[in-house]
Amino acid sequence: MTEPLTAADRCDRCGAQAYVRVVLPVGELLFCAHHAREHAPKFSDVATHVQDETDRLLAEHGAGTGAAR
Ligand SMILES: [Zn+2]
Repeated sequence: MTEPLTAADRCDRCGAQAYVRVVLPVGELLFCAHHAREHAPKFSDVATHVQDETDRLLAEHGAGTGAAR
């Protein structure tokens, strides 16, 4: 049901590559790491499932590159 996110999955807010999928009763949202963090307080109450692949972001780009800022 929850497939891995790919480079074709884009953040609904800014169009960056999505690393978090938020499944809601009415559909789903995709967020980059930045917007996932920003919107977490809102969707955490209503989401039925949160697929967080932000650790892949670090694995792919390396920690300390500033990608998460
Ligand atoms: Zn974003």
